[in-house]
Amino acid sequence: MRGGTIVTMDAGRRVIEDGAIAVQQGRIVAVGPRAEIEAKYTAREVIDARGRAVIPGLINGHTHVPMTLFRGLADDLDLNEWLTKYIFPAEAKNVTEDFVRAGTRLGLAEMIRGGTTTFCDMYYFEDAVADETARAGVRGVLGETIIDFPVADNKTNQEAMAYVEKFVKKWQGHRLITPAIAPHAPYTVSEEHLRAVHAFSERTGAPVVIHVAETEKEVNDIQKAKGARPVDYLTRIGFLNDRVIAAHVIYANDEEIAVLKRAGVGVVHNPQSNMKLASGVAPVPQMLRADLALGLGTDGAASNNDLNMWEEMDTAAKLHKVFSHDPRVVSAREALEMATIRGARAIHMEREIGSLEAGKRADLVIVDLDELNQTPLYHIYSDLVYAAKAADVRTVVIDGRIVMRDRKLLTLNEKEVKETARVFRDRIARSLSLQPLPAR
Ligand SMILES: [Zn+2]
Repeated sequence: MRGGTIVTMDAGRRVIEDGAIAVQQGRIVAVGPRAEIEAKYTAREVIDARGRAVIPGLINGHTHVPMTLFRGLADDLDLNEWLTKYIFPAEAKNVTEDFVRAGTRLGLAEMIRGGTTTFCDMYYFEDAVADETARAGVRGVLGETIIDFPVADNKTNQEAMAYVEKFVKKWQGHRLITPAIAPHAPYTVSEEHLRAVHAFSERTGAPVVIHVAETEKEVNDIQKAKGARPVDYLTRIGFLNDRVIAAHVIYANDEEIAVLKRAGVGVVHNPQSNMKLASGVAPVPQMLRADLALGLGTDGAASNNDLNMWEEMDTAAKLHKVFSHDPRVVSAREALEMATIRGARAIHMEREIGSLEAGKRADLVIVDLDELNQTPLYHIYSDLVYAAKAADVRTVVIDGRIVMRDRKLLTLNEKEVKETARVFRDRIARSLSLQPLPAR
C-alpha cells in the first residue's frame, strides 16, 4: 500500500503524508514515509492510495448482525415495548440457521462497504455467524447468546451451555474469529447462570459479551431484585474482569466507572441505538476522562437502523456536546479513537488490531478524500468524523486480504445478498401479519 495520508492511531497518533505500509502474511511489517518503505521492501501487489486516507479498519463493538433482516421492522418505541411486543415475537417465529446466515451476509456486506473490518456480535446460531464471517474474510468476536427462556437454537440453559462449549472449542485459534459467550443481560439471565458463564470464561479464556445498565427500568428492576445497581451487582457476584465486553453502560456513576476501569472491563457506547430507543445518554466524557477501554457500536440494525460506523462516530461526538453543553467534549479525534484503537481495547484485541503499526494485523481501509462533502479539507480527523461518509470508503483490506476493491465487494455477492434478504422480509412480514409492501 503506498501513497496517501496514513492515519496510524498509534501511541503517538502519527499522521504520515505520502506514506506507505508493507504487509506480509496478514500482518503489517512496516509503516512510514513512502520513500523509506519503498527503499526497504518490494511487494507482489501494490495498492495505490495517492490522494486518499488510509486508516485502521473500523471496529463495530456491538452488533446483533443477523438482525439486519429486521431493519425498520418496528421503530419509534422504547426498548421494553420494542423488545417484548416486536423483536422477541419476530425472533420466535423466524430465527433459523438460514435466517441467521442470510442476515449475517447482509450485515457483513454493509459493514465491509463502510470500512468496518471487525465486529463484536451477540446472537443465536453464532456458529453460522462465524462460518459466514470467516468466508467473507471479516474479523469477529462472536458471542453465542445465553438467555433464560427458550430460543431458536437452544431450549434450555443446559443446551445453550453445551452449544457454547462446542462452539468455542471449534473456533478458538482461528485467524479471524474469536468465539465468545454472550449472556444477554443481568435482567434476562439469572445469577446462577451468570456465575456459570463466568466459570466457563475462566476455564476457556473466551470473552464475555453482555448488555449492562441499558435502561432505567433495568436499574430499578435489578435494584429491587438484588439490592444493588447493575454494575454493583455484577461486581458482587465476581462477574467483572478483563474478558468482559459490556454494551451500553448508560447508567453508571463515577464510582461505577472507576470499578469498571479497575476490573479492566471493555465498554461499548451505542449512541444511535440509545437515542432511537430513548434509553438515555451514557456518561462518555466521564468514561474518557477515566481512560476506560471504550469502543463504539451500532447495536443491531433493528434499533439503529444501519451498521454505519461513520454515522456512529459523528453522532458520538455531537450527542455529548449537546448533552453536556460543552463543545470540547468528545473531539473528532476521540471519536475516531473509539472506533479504532480504543475500540480494540474495549474488545480486548488492542495487541492485534486498532492501529496501523508494525506487528499488528493488516486491517486497513482506504478512504477517498476528494468527494464534494469532503472539500476543502483542513484537518484529517475533522474530515473523517464530521464530513466523510461510509460511501467514501474505497478499498478494504482485512488480515492482508482485499475484501473490497474500488467499491466492489470481492467476498460477497451483493445482488444475491439483497435478493435473499427480500425473500426473508416477506416471510417475516407475513409471520407478524404486517401489511404487504407496496410494489417495489
Ligand atoms: Zn444490543
